[in-house]
Amino acid sequence: MQRLTVDRAICAGHGLCYGSAPELVDSDEQGDPVIVTEPVPADLAGTARRVVAMCPERALALVEPSPA
Ligand code: SF4
Repeated sequence: MQRLTVDRAICAGHGLCYGSAPELVDSDEQGDPVIVTEPVPADLAGTARRVVAMCPERALALVEPSPA
């Protein structure tokens, strides 16, 4: 299953992701996104793709797990 990642170096912190998909992304006390569901369950795969696409900073990504 894929993992959702956030690059905090390029995230602008405006909260579109956790406002739209709180089942996948929460916010910390600074308002920065925190991934809360890993790996992304199959029933949230579409939501994960949508939230990645909506991030204006391209700070979110879906990545394949590393081979064992
Ligand atoms: S939508 Fe993108 S830039 Fe905005 S808070 Fe989420 S990860 Fe950061």
